[in-house]
Amino acid sequence: MAEHYKKSEITLKGIGVSPGIAVEQVQLLSLQTQPIVQRDITPEEIPLEIARFEMALMATHDQLKLIQKQVADVLGDEHASIFEAHMLVVDDRTFIEDVIRGLEKDLINIEPILQTVANRYADMLAKMEDSYLSERATDIRDVTKRIMANLVGKTLDQMAQINDPCIVVAHDLAPSDTASIDRKLVQGFVTDLGSVTSHTSIMAKALEVPAVVGLHNITAVVSAGDFILIDGSRGRVYVHPTDARLAEYKKRAEDQEQILSKLDTLRDKPPETQDGYLVPISANIELLEELDVIEARGAKGIGLFRTEFLFLTGDSLPDEEEQATAYEQAARSQYPSNVVIRTLDFGADKLPSNFQMPDEMNPFLGDRAIRLCLSRPKLFKTQLRAILRASVNENVRIMYPMVSCVQEVLDANAILHECMDELRTKNIPFNENILIGTMIEVPSAALVADLIAPHVSFFSLGTNDLIQYTMAVDRGNENVAHLYQPTHIAILRLIDNVVKVSRKHNLWTCVCGQMAASPILVPLLIGLGVDELSVSPSQAPLIKGVIRKLHYSDAVDLARKALTSSSAEHVEKLCHEMIERVAPEVLELSE
Ligand code: PEP
Ligand code: MG
Repeated sequence: MAEHYKKSEITLKGIGVSPGIAVEQVQLLSLQTQPIVQRDITPEEIPLEIARFEMALMATHDQLKLIQKQVADVLGDEHASIFEAHMLVVDDRTFIEDVIRGLEKDLINIEPILQTVANRYADMLAKMEDSYLSERATDIRDVTKRIMANLVGKTLDQMAQINDPCIVVAHDLAPSDTASIDRKLVQGFVTDLGSVTSHTSIMAKALEVPAVVGLHNITAVVSAGDFILIDGSRGRVYVHPTDARLAEYKKRAEDQEQILSKLDTLRDKPPETQDGYLVPISANIELLEELDVIEARGAKGIGLFRTEFLFLTGDSLPDEEEQATAYEQAARSQYPSNVVIRTLDFGADKLPSNFQMPDEMNPFLGDRAIRLCLSRPKLFKTQLRAILRASVNENVRIMYPMVSCVQEVLDANAILHECMDELRTKNIPFNENILIGTMIEVPSAALVADLIAPHVSFFSLGTNDLIQYTMAVDRGNENVAHLYQPTHIAILRLIDNVVKVSRKHNLWTCVCGQMAASPILVPLLIGLGVDELSVSPSQAPLIKGVIRKLHYSDAVDLARKALTSSSAEHVEKLCHEMIERVAPEVLELSE
């Protein structure tokens, strides 16, 4: 028996967010925003610490220069000027020498000294009467964060350094980290933070990598090189798995394989209930690499193209030409099925590392998605023109994210019409009748769906955010995950309202949030009357399997009972009972 299996097994329970079983060695990634650790140093180590500091300053300077140029290109010079101020901080010899003096005096590592000196400068400036000087306090704080990240080393860089097969264990992963992994080497993700709908989970599904999140302290439990087994369906992690455990999971993996290969045979069959009711299944995609698997997994077309993921990797924001090429590739690959291209849902946790945003108290309630695009018309118009150019294929549709009121739709449509005029002037062809839709993922939008309806052709229910904003529960916070209830009566009522409005106005309603990919909840959604389900390609076989075993009349009955029920728990029980009756085998593949 190998040495590593002799250690006692530790079982941990988290949230299974991407199915599959993997056994590999741990690759432990350091935290992105690590707490600052203080350690004593010897006088001999001083030059080493100064060298680390100087290197972090140089790296910060180079990054700021690059970002300044990119922001100037996209948003104009006035937005880029903030980086000039940041570079002044990095180059300020008085500030640098103060830090070095502190290091020599206190004989501790550079990070806590830098933080103390930066805080002293920032506090002093913040108290100044002169508003120019007091605003420099924010510059000092922002730039210190960047220097600190360069001192600590970012997760992104560590991802690039993976050379052996492994399971990545991290406190948290940013979407840009997961987008840059080598799929041949990374066999799974495990994180302290996260939930079913956090963006790490979405990426894990897109990459078809098993993942368990929300484990609280796995980074403290495992060490680099430990062997772990992860079960992405049940949310289990076994550290130092025993031989018996490995044997149990070998059998389980074989059983899952069998169920999946049966589901594979449905690939070319329609997603139709036993009594002939058709529920189209389209795909949620984040990466162009996924285009090839959509049809292979039995889905048709794209119900949600999360375009912001095209922007999360790489050193610069893609220009109009590059974007048009990507959208055309997606449109052509799915023709004649529809391709719904969602405009940038930037903001909060989805920001490219080189996109500078002022700090916000509540970024998830802040300047993001359609709000961010409306206030940065240059960025928005570049994307809209690129989508319009791809629309010559006539299967392309546009969708706005995070709409919270009618005016945003009107404003976005006005900008879209400006883009159309610009293309006409240049004789660039596009589909004049392109269909426009909105995400319904903010409760206010669900409640005024009747007012939005005249200005759009379709709705797409983004249940991940709709639940988050209705229940006031951070969708990525495992501490409040028990309050994140898709079957809460408030959610069902909002969906019911949107579907009724949609039918009255002859619109089409898709569900593209995670609810659509949950086999247990699919009968309920169908019964509530949604027209289409958009799921990550890896989930499509499972969802088709459920639909084809279901009777539409039973689904309608279930939804009727759910709407008159008084608790989320009761609705969940009804849903469970139905799936156990109709398609119990799919429970083996989902939590
Ligand atoms: C949603 O909110 O349900 C959704 C599909 O959008 P995202 O997960 O990208 O926020
Ligand atoms: Mg959303």
